[in-house]
Amino acid sequence: MSALLRVEDLRVCFRTMGPLKALVTGTKAPFIDAVCGVSFEIHKGETLALVGESGSGKSTIARTIIGLQRAVSGSIRIDGQEIEELSGAERKPYLRRMAMMFQDPIGSLSPRLTVRSLLTEPFRIHGLKHPDLGGEAERLLRMVGLPADFARRYPHQLSGGQARRVGIARALALNPDLIIADEPTAGLDVSVQGEVLNLLARLQDELGMAILIITHNLNVVRHMTDRMAIMYLGRFIEVGSTERIFDQPRHPYTEALLAANPEPDPDAVLNRIELKGEVPSLMRRPSGCEFHTRCRYAQDICSRVFPEPSASEDAEHSFRCHFPLGRGSDRPLETTLSSAGPKSDDGQS
Ligand code: SF4
Repeated sequence: MSALLRVEDLRVCFRTMGPLKALVTGTKAPFIDAVCGVSFEIHKGETLALVGESGSGKSTIARTIIGLQRAVSGSIRIDGQEIEELSGAERKPYLRRMAMMFQDPIGSLSPRLTVRSLLTEPFRIHGLKHPDLGGEAERLLRMVGLPADFARRYPHQLSGGQARRVGIARALALNPDLIIADEPTAGLDVSVQGEVLNLLARLQDELGMAILIITHNLNVVRHMTDRMAIMYLGRFIEVGSTERIFDQPRHPYTEALLAANPEPDPDAVLNRIELKGEVPSLMRRPSGCEFHTRCRYAQDICSRVFPEPSASEDAEHSFRCHFPLGRGSDRPLETTLSSAGPKSDDGQS
């Protein structure tokens, strides 16, 4: 089955200073790599999570997919069509097959527009006519469980949960094939978080769209997703089915994230793993494995040699680590040293 969205070797950079300052300070490359060679695909009806700490590049990937950010290199294909090859007008029909739910439920809604205008704005933005925009707004409100009279309200008259529902309704306006949900439960009470996730799951069942969820909340990932990709400093360091990764994480960073996740069962025995230090700056990436400064399993080779991706035997699960964790063990397997191979001095391949 061909992928609805295929992203290959995506690279996104940000400027760290203006050209004049770069000239004055003698900085030859005033850029940081926010996303480094990321590849993945999403199929119709599937849910994929991008997981990682702040600054890991999750939201940058989302913004690049929907055209709010330019990639330096790489490919983004929708139903096999390379988006970069299209002119602005040709691109629009492809871009409207995707809709984004932004992180801040109230802040992402324009304060000067009524809910009716917010819900029908996508039609105007894409130059689409609709015979009954008022009726369409009411239909969208009903889909997300809000009364029709909410169409007259302004964002400041909504609670966080209501604003999130309006955000979902707006995302559904053009009947997208893919919804990108950036931290869909951020800023919501725990009970409201459950309602929003259940709503998204129900709508996905009814409408069959794919969902790309960007989050650091592993309970959301476990509840909602088929597959997950763990990000660290702009790279995927582990990718696989959600069930497999929760059951058998292979990368030490994933292991630490899972161990830090609040356990819903009050009787569960907690096995916390403390990560050393802070996430390194993108401006000063560690050599070799970029996680080695915080990894409790790091060995000499880790600071020198950049780990290439390894895959499980069934190729369903991949990870970048010289010493991936073994099944049901808290000790790494010493298996991949020979396959890592020598790299350049800075450890980059
Ligand atoms: Fe830890 Fe080494 Fe694996 Fe990196 S390559 S995650 S430092 S064991």
